[in-house]
Amino acid sequence: VNEAAGAPAQARERHAQLVESLEDAGWRYYVLDSPTVSDAEYDGWMRDIKALEEEFPSLQTPDSPTQKVGSPISTEFAAVAHLQRMESLDNAFNDADLAGWQARAERLAETDPAPYLCELKIDGLAIALVYEKGRLTRAATRGDGRTGEDVTPNVRTIADVPQRLVGDDVPDLLEVRGEVFLPVEGFKKLNEQLMDAGRAPFANPRNSAAGSLRQKDPRITAQRPLRMIVHGVGKWEGTEPPKTQSETYDRLAAFGLPVSDRYKVVGTLEEIIGFIAYYNEHRHDPAYEIDGVVVKVDRIALQRLLGSTSKAPRWAIAFKYPPEEVTTGLLDIQVGV
Ligand code: NAD
Repeated sequence: VNEAAGAPAQARERHAQLVESLEDAGWRYYVLDSPTVSDAEYDGWMRDIKALEEEFPSLQTPDSPTQKVGSPISTEFAAVAHLQRMESLDNAFNDADLAGWQARAERLAETDPAPYLCELKIDGLAIALVYEKGRLTRAATRGDGRTGEDVTPNVRTIADVPQRLVGDDVPDLLEVRGEVFLPVEGFKKLNEQLMDAGRAPFANPRNSAAGSLRQKDPRITAQRPLRMIVHGVGKWEGTEPPKTQSETYDRLAAFGLPVSDRYKVVGTLEEIIGFIAYYNEHRHDPAYEIDGVVVKVDRIALQRLLGSTSKAPRWAIAFKYPPEEVTTGLLDIQVGV
């Protein structure tokens, strides 16, 4: 790095502070399942560090939290290499962010990227399932995106997850990604049980799902009412792969995989904004907690063309809803655990 073109000491210091805060929070959130700051605060730090790096590009090193997915994995589990990198999602917080995302996709693709698939952003943890000749052979957490934690015995206890896929056109090799979550009712009940037993409750459903799944003893996982919804594909080999995201869901559902019934394919930005507004009003209709809406370019060929940045696909964006009071309230209990 050319020092003369580098950042002033004050910016470097602020950057180092933000890195430390983000890494510490990430460790507590992803590895310990026990966050000590709210998601909104974490997202605020992330926005600050991005702004700093935009102003002083020399600060944007490959190991910056802006360039990395998740966190290093826990040594409690065996490490597994993902067949395909698992990514994060870029965020949008308002309509202008969405319009910017759409315009960039249109510029890069040199065509109108519509239609779009809108779906709920489930606040759980990401899991990759590998099916070989239709049999579930492995389940892993996202980890740092390249290497995840082997949680196969734990995932086998989730009733939604088929051990075997059905149908004539099941691929020889299929890696699907989805969200493991605890429905809100299950989360509340679990926290009551934990508190009755004199133990610390979980801060929110997301952490309770991660904490329940990432147990050394799968028998504990089996007692937790975990659910799963599939929302992506990493590898599809041996049969003709689907051409759109919506077709993907139809095919996965036909194999017996759990797919959301709350998605919608739309043609315009206005309709995307309408979907987001609807679920902002109906945020508690689903049995699980959502923290936003994910918008995806529906055509797979266009997804390929748009590709990814260092940590997130360019063909998808997560619109994040403003935080709700109740989650931050519970966080206070979690501090110091
Ligand atoms: P993210 O959670 O914002 O988005 C990516 C994830 O969304 C994917 O990995 C996937 O599992 C999930 N997802 C849910 N529904 C989906 C759908 N329908 N389609 C596709 N993906 C879907 O990103 P991230 O990189 O996991 O984490 C960053 C977020 O985690 C931050 O914005 C912050 O809110 C939170 N966080 C909080 C703390 C804390 O201390 N409170 C620490 C670290 C991270």
